[in-house]
Amino acid sequence: MRSHKVAVIGGDGIGPEVVEAGCRVLDAIAADDGGFGFAFEHFDWGSDYYRKHGRMMPEDGLQQLEGFNAIYFGSVGDPNLPDDVTLWGLRLAICQGFDQYANVRPTRLLPGIGGPLRPDLGAQIDWVIVRENSEGEYAGVGGRAHRGLPIEVGMDVAVFTRAGVERIARFACDLARSRPRRHLTIVTKSNAQRHGMVFWDDICRTVIRDYPDVTVDWMLVDAMTQRMVLKPGTIDTVLATNLHADILSDLAAALAGSLGIGATANIDPSRKRPSMFEPIHGSAFDITGKGIANPLGAFWTATMMLDHLGETRAAERLMQAIETVTSRGDTLSPDLGGRATTAEVTDAVIGAITGANA
Ligand code: NAD
Ligand code: MN
Repeated sequence: MRSHKVAVIGGDGIGPEVVEAGCRVLDAIAADDGGFGFAFEHFDWGSDYYRKHGRMMPEDGLQQLEGFNAIYFGSVGDPNLPDDVTLWGLRLAICQGFDQYANVRPTRLLPGIGGPLRPDLGAQIDWVIVRENSEGEYAGVGGRAHRGLPIEVGMDVAVFTRAGVERIARFACDLARSRPRRHLTIVTKSNAQRHGMVFWDDICRTVIRDYPDVTVDWMLVDAMTQRMVLKPGTIDTVLATNLHADILSDLAAALAGSLGIGATANIDPSRKRPSMFEPIHGSAFDITGKGIANPLGAFWTATMMLDHLGETRAAERLMQAIETVTSRGDTLSPDLGGRATTAEVTDAVIGAITGANA
């Protein structure tokens, strides 16, 4: 039997609640499949760990994670700690430390979920956003000087490298090619940012020459927001920089109905190091501990992890089970207008998994 070693980092807020639910669902899909299983190892890293140890994870944290086949992550962020400390100390430390340079976010309006768009438009949403995840605006390069003085400055320098842009452009082209429509939209802002963004365009233009079977169009990021709302059906695979894709994917999540559903993967396509899978939402302090967090984002994330681990059949079955529950509509959490608890949604999905096999 295939055994997948998965590091589970619940993190802060509702993170641990939804990944625990996710582990239950993953065990259920594995038991039902019969061909594989999970060896989960849990890590208590995050803001509570920080309060005890002065760091978000141990100094050798990355070494501890190295041997795993995947990382299943909840969220980070604490009301009493600065967001840049928690984000850089854990999530970005792992993404950047493991060179998970491709962030992938699928977006669809799941059956039974009413998004904010007119139903005929909402039904057209079927996108995958590819976010450059290692450099760009989040390279961490810059500084502050002359603190407290009137001449104080703060700078973040967006870093685009030939190697960095080329590898993410290839990844996006490969992904676009694997989808039925074979269409890629490259997002840019080279009208205003005439160094890094023009360089981004130049490199992307070179890479797409190797993909004559993929049709490509280009959009300025501001115009892209309009197109996502007004003409969602014209979009398939999207490539954007770290910052642009961060913003576009929150818009995508909103158009798809709830922050509680969205899923994402931070991939090291070289597979030298483990990739990390997480729901897109944050710690959701307002509902932490109430048992009502929507676990569907963590479940959709789990399907991406299954795919990455080669369990494509199980990934499809889990996605079907999620969609069975959303389309039935009787077991939805409060963010989707229902009254179900995290545990009830989890039980419903597990029920759909076992039922789907009958
Ligand atoms: P958030 O995603 O935590 O919450 C935004 C709103 O959506 C809240 O009202 C929340 O209750 C709701 N929501 C989110 N996920 C939900 C779910 N699964 N079920 C039901 N409702 C859900 O975003 P925020 O409030 O901007 O950020 C809170 C903290 O989380 C901050 O510290 C932020 O830095 C952090 N954060 C972390 C990540 C991450 O770890 N990847 C992502 C976003 C925000
Ligand atoms: Mn974001």
